Order: sequence, then C-alpha cells, then structure tokens
Amino acid sequence: MLMLVVAIQDVLDGKYEEKSLTIRGWIYRKRESKQTIFLLVRDASGVVQCTVKRDNPSWTQAKKVTIESSVMLEGTVKHDERAPGGYEIAVENLSIIGLAEVFPITEYKSEEFLRNVRHLWLRSRRMNLIMKVRSEVLRFIHDFFKKEGFVEVSPPMFISSACEGGSTLFGLKYFDKQLYLTQSAQLHLEALIYSLEKVYCVAPSFRAEKSRTIRHLTEYWHVEPEWAFADMDDLMRFEENLLSYICHKTVKNCKKEMESLTVDISKLVAVEAPFPRITYTEATERLNSKGFKIKWGEDFGYDEEKALAEDFGKPFFVYAYPRQIKAFYCKTYRDNPDLVMSTDMLVPRIGEISTGGAREDDKEELLRRLKKLGLREEDYDWYIDLRRYGTVPHVGFGLGLERLLTWMLDLENIIDAIPFPRTIRRFYP
Ligand code: ATP
Ligand code: MN
Repeated sequence: MLMLVVAIQDVLDGKYEEKSLTIRGWIYRKRESKQTIFLLVRDASGVVQCTVKRDNPSWTQAKKVTIESSVMLEGTVKHDERAPGGYEIAVENLSIIGLAEVFPITEYKSEEFLRNVRHLWLRSRRMNLIMKVRSEVLRFIHDFFKKEGFVEVSPPMFISSACEGGSTLFGLKYFDKQLYLTQSAQLHLEALIYSLEKVYCVAPSFRAEKSRTIRHLTEYWHVEPEWAFADMDDLMRFEENLLSYICHKTVKNCKKEMESLTVDISKLVAVEAPFPRITYTEATERLNSKGFKIKWGEDFGYDEEKALAEDFGKPFFVYAYPRQIKAFYCKTYRDNPDLVMSTDMLVPRIGEISTGGAREDDKEELLRRLKKLGLREEDYDWYIDLRRYGTVPHVGFGLGLERLLTWMLDLENIIDAIPFPRTIRRFYP
C-alpha cells in the first residue's frame, strides 16, 4: 500500500487529524511505561509525539530504538491535548533505518562540549530554528536588492593586495606567490559598477581576528552592495530601508521560529526609517559626557559603541569620521578634508553592524591618499584605472550577516549565527 509521507509540522498544524500516514525522521526523546512507549520524533519541520502500544507488532522495534536513530513510522493522527503540540501519532508500524549508537549529547552539557560536537549539535531544535531564520534573512536580502535593481555578482576570494589594514589579512601560498584571502569585495565591486551601475554580493570575508569577542569570526558572510551616481544621503537611506525590510519580513514570515527561540521581536517591529544620525564629533561629545575620555581622532571600540547604542535603544548611524582612522579610499568632505564620508550603522548590545561610505572618485586625491599612507601605487594600478576612465561618484557598504543575526535573534555569541563557526581557536568540525 502507498503511504502518504508528510512533514511533522503539517501534522501539528492539524492537517491530518484521524488520517493514516507516514513520517520520517529521528528519535528525539524516548520514554517507556508498562503499556506504552512514547517516542518524540523530529524531522526538519518539527517534533511530534508517537506512541507504540504493547500489543502492537512494532513493540520490539520500539524497545530497541535509540535516541537519534533514523526511523520511518506509519500510524494514525490523534488529537490529544496532553501531547506536546496537541497531536500525536498512534504507531502501527515502526521501521528503523539507522540504529544510532549512544548519542554523546545529553542534557546539561557544557558550551565547550557542544562546540566540539557541533556537527551533532546542529540537530538541536535551537540550531535548526536559527538556520531557518538565517536562510530567510538571506532571502529577504536578495529580494530587497533585486527589488532595487541590483545585479548580484561573484567577487574573487583570492586577492593580491589588501583592501584595508593588512593586520587582519590571511596570507596564503598561491603556487610560488603570496596571496591573501579577501576581507571585503569592495574594490572589485567598484570595478563592476562601471558596467552594471548597481551591484551586490553575499560572500565570505576572512579576517585574522586574534581577540576573542562575541562579535568576531575569522570567516563570516559579508553583504556588500556598491552603486554609481549616489551620495551619503542615498547610502544611509538605502541602509535604513534595507534593515527595516529585513526586520519586518522576518517578523512576519518567521513568527513561529522567533517565538520558539524566545526572541524579543518588539525591537524588530519598531525598526523604522529614518534612523537617527549623529556625526563622529557629536558621538565623542556624548561619550565624554558619560565619562569616557576620547580624544578627537581616536576610533571607538566595543565599549564606546555599546554605550552610544544604549542612548538610542535602536539602530542609528554615526557618520563623518576623522580621515586618519579610515581607509585610503574614503572620500573627504570637500569643505573639510579632515573628515571622510564614512558611516557606521550601530545597534544596541552589538555595536557596529555595517560600515559604508562614499569612495574617493578623484584620481589625484586618491593618489595623494595612497602616497600619504605609504601604499604602493603599482599595487593599486587597476583600481586607479577606475578613476582614469569615466569616474563617477559612488557609494557602498558592508554588512556582516552574522552580526545582524546576533542582534536580531538576541544571540549571546556570534558563533551561533553560522553552522560551522571559525575563530582563532576553533576550526573543527
Ligand atoms: P570591527 O571594528 O567591529 O572589528 P570593522 O570595522 O573592522 O569591524 P568592516 O571592515 O567595517 O569591519 O566590515 C564591515 C562589516 O563586516 C562590519 O560592520 C561587521 O558587521 C562585519 N564584520 C567585520 N569583521 C567581522 C568579523 N571578524 N566577524 C564577523 N563580522 C565582521
Ligand atoms: Mn567598520
């Protein structure tokens, strides 16, 4: 007989009451009494309680089955208020597909232990839900860029010269040459705007971050758009619209997941453009009035960013930074060359989630900057070409996908925003 194979979530949604069907999945929990064995079975979509009675031919299989064994179950759906989720399956036939050995993850394991068995911990409900939201957030990001007329492009991961400061670059042997892993696709995206005008990518960036923090990985996914004929105001408006779009879509489409993860969704619902904007100079004044001792021209660290974000309690921008703390490609304000057109978006608890700005589009200005910073002109020859042939004012930004998720989902540490986190100490499994 052909059996209907269904997703567990559909059973829980009440679509199959009193129906006979088949589910496939893994044993999540098991409890036995004299007359009944209770199996909690999970698949990608959810967890449902299944009961096997002593007089059923499947009783011996049910006795034998272990936690995390893969199974196929046939049975009838019953409405039962006592069952978690309100439905259970009365099992008529249980087949074990893969009998599991004793599963190493039991209750009350340390964080450290769970990180070492990440490949197994990914089966947890928590990781399952986070990965689903991550996938949806990515989809909304792509939707937004498509909606705005951006073309998705694929930048190289091997690069021959650094985008920013070289201190966090990963070097690697490339045949008999020295190359690096990319930290940002920006420079290559800039080349592409001369063909496509509006481009973006979602790609890995690599950073040799030596300090352990809750917001740094050595490999993370970087959302980077770059577009022509735009200024700082266009940039900030685009960023706030993107973030609002992502937050509202996620609240709407991932309600169940967010509830199960006990996420505070009110902060996402409240996200609304326009975001507050303060200059770097105002930010230092605010900080110093709180007892910090920042000299004009110093960069902010995590503590400063968090303190500023407490004031706002929602996403906001800091812009117009001192030239000396920003990269060579940042465009200076023409009426004040000590300041560059760069802006960070900050959120509570996490601090910076994006950096963007206008790029220097004047060739002579760019050459002066390279020289001043001791960078070799020949390393950037192709980049300077972009100012030689039809230069245009343009802007772009980089948003860390995992930083964003850490904030959105109230995660304690960025490592839970990616399936296989890489940090200075962790690269297994
Ligand atoms: P930070 O000062 O917080 O280390 P940054 O200013 O060096 O970050 P950018 O070069 O501005 O980082 O990168 C753009 C965005 O990429 C950041 O705003 C952040 O969201 C994300 N990002 C940067 N470094 C990391 C990292 N090591 N792990 C995860 N995300 C990162
Ligand atoms: Mn930054």
